[in-house]
Amino acid sequence: MSVKIINDKCKGCTKCLQECPFDAITMQEKLAVIGPKCTSCGKCVDVCPFKAIENITEEKKGAVDVTLYHDVWVFAEQRDGKLMNVSVELLGEGKKLAGEIGCKLCAILCGDNTNELVTELYEYGADKVYYANAPELKNYNTDAYTKVIYEAILKYKPEIVLLGATHIGRDLGPCLAVQCGTGLTADCTKLDIDPEDKKLMQTRPAFGGNLMATILCPAHRPQMSTVRPGVMEKPVKKPGAKGELIELKPVYKDGDIRQKVLEIVKGLTEQVSLTDAKIIVSGGAGLGGPDGFKVIKQLADRLGGVVGSSRAAVDAGWIDHSHQVGQTGTTVKPTVYFACGISGAIQHLAGMQNSGYIVAINKNENAPIFEVADYGIVGDLYKVIPALLEVLG
Ligand code: FAD
Ligand code: SF4
Ligand code: SF4
Repeated sequence: MSVKIINDKCKGCTKCLQECPFDAITMQEKLAVIGPKCTSCGKCVDVCPFKAIENITEEKKGAVDVTLYHDVWVFAEQRDGKLMNVSVELLGEGKKLAGEIGCKLCAILCGDNTNELVTELYEYGADKVYYANAPELKNYNTDAYTKVIYEAILKYKPEIVLLGATHIGRDLGPCLAVQCGTGLTADCTKLDIDPEDKKLMQTRPAFGGNLMATILCPAHRPQMSTVRPGVMEKPVKKPGAKGELIELKPVYKDGDIRQKVLEIVKGLTEQVSLTDAKIIVSGGAGLGGPDGFKVIKQLADRLGGVVGSSRAAVDAGWIDHSHQVGQTGTTVKPTVYFACGISGAIQHLAGMQNSGYIVAINKNENAPIFEVADYGIVGDLYKVIPALLEVLG
């Protein structure tokens, strides 16, 4: 619902302006005007003595017939012809949601000669693949991808569209949501289907992670979410699985694509792939300074792992943000996670507590990190890590 002033009826009495709890109404040329602070609470509708304010229902605002929308779609994000892990995770989650709704799981893939990925998508559980194969789609491009996926959404009407909360997903998701006139819940950590009405319940941290908010998109379609990498379980690959292929044939006119990718240069920081790492050795404020990361790197190198960090170390300028694990960093799920000189704040735990084994090294035996650790070593990391390195040889 939202509200609207009927200018012909407004007498400029200012009663609504005085009653609005959000200071959302101003007077302009003796007429009430509703501004962006309006929360649609509806109070002004009741207080206007001249019935000059009306509720606009969702139907009037262009809400859709939700019964026309079917199936769960996953955006199959590829880079250099390689499927991103988060898309595989979303296929696993999408299969579960589709099962609960009783519909099909579909993947939508954009690329240039990435045909072998279609088979991979079937093997990860897609019943159907919508495939746009064109030179313009080789690398991610906002306009090119938005156009073809938006047109497919209009034609095939999915009820749910899931994207990874990667840089690409975070760009594409909002563009599609605006085009479709629907909502988008960003950075979800949990997805469920309401058993009563089969709507998607999208849960994400809110207020600095202090509470979890579950968000619904009741009247518009598709229901759209981005999901953080590393949160959902990867499905088991079923070699030889088959599905239905629907080829999309994008046609681009002059002016449709406003961005041009000239060259892709991988930054040094991009080479830290925390999401895919099997072993992560992270350092925190307990390192005492940037040089502390030398010993962290020694251990990571020795174990074939990568270096992670807490936000405190990033904020201190000791290491780049791309290494940060946690709520405002990367969510990781390695086989082994070493937390060295990290206290275990809730925002850090949010990004690593699903790791296979957690090894904590901390000189404070009461540090909260020990509550989630499988192995805890109470001691000075500058003594413990060299001792570990010596044992490892
Ligand atoms: P501290 O809490 O200062 O802990 C240092 C630890 O090192 C202590 O436990 C100490 O006992 C130990 N120690 C000291 N010296 C040694 C030694 N020589 N040997 C062994 N142990 C030693 N944090 C994140 O990590 N990731 C996030 O994504 C993140 N997002 C946030 C989002 C919001 C909205 C907010 C409000 C906070 C966020 N934080 C995040 C910050 C978080 O709340 C903590 O402040 C941060 O994780 C603390 O980092 P730390 O454990 O390295 O430092
Ligand atoms: Fe106009 Fe009604 Fe507001 Fe008075 S209360 S200013 S008549 S909209
Ligand atoms: Fe103010 Fe509520 Fe009216 Fe919006 S609907 S203008 S917030 S009283």
